[in-house]
Amino acid sequence: MINMLLIDMDDVIADLQQEWIRRYNKDYNDNLDYRKIDLWNIEKHIRPECGSKIRDYFKEPTFYFNLKPIDGAIEGIYKIMNILDINKIRICTYCLWDAVYGFSEKIMWIEKHIPELRDKVIIAKDKYLLARHDRILIDDAPHNLNEFSQFNGTSIVFDKSYNKELPYLRAYDWEHIFNLIKRINSELEFRLREPKIFNSF
Ligand SMILES: [Mg+2]
Repeated sequence: MINMLLIDMDDVIADLQQEWIRRYNKDYNDNLDYRKIDLWNIEKHIRPECGSKIRDYFKEPTFYFNLKPIDGAIEGIYKIMNILDINKIRICTYCLWDAVYGFSEKIMWIEKHIPELRDKVIIAKDKYLLARHDRILIDDAPHNLNEFSQFNGTSIVFDKSYNKELPYLRAYDWEHIFNLIKRINSELEFRLREPKIFNSF
């Protein structure tokens, strides 16, 4: 059985990129396609006059609270709640330390969209500290997924343009995530005896 399912927030259940780049395009008269960017090297995609100011959007009040849910995410989490005890589910998220509204708005966002999980939010920069063999992290960030896997956790990559090279289980949408969780939960005992089994996913 799964001991804990950790679900990232930004660009896994909340559509940060789309709103972030929409604001940038409007302010800097650009037409950057958020679906094609490398999020972790974003400066190479944006106008020089913007530069590090691109991260100032994270500090704006209501930025995080008003993010739209990723397609299928809310429904997907409720479906997972039908097969996994709610006490085994955590939202695991972080934002820049000086995005002072972000931390509270993230909790408020969960309360708005998935109120059952409002007390099950973990604010953690170092997600690998929660890793162990029977815990799963669904995330889009390469560093989080790499570290979680290195510390013996199971990483599920939420497919994005900037994480195509990662070798872990890959989910293309929330229906896919649900099917993976269902299968891992029922077969985890077998996987512990034969770690390679999940290569067939
Ligand atoms: Mg993320």
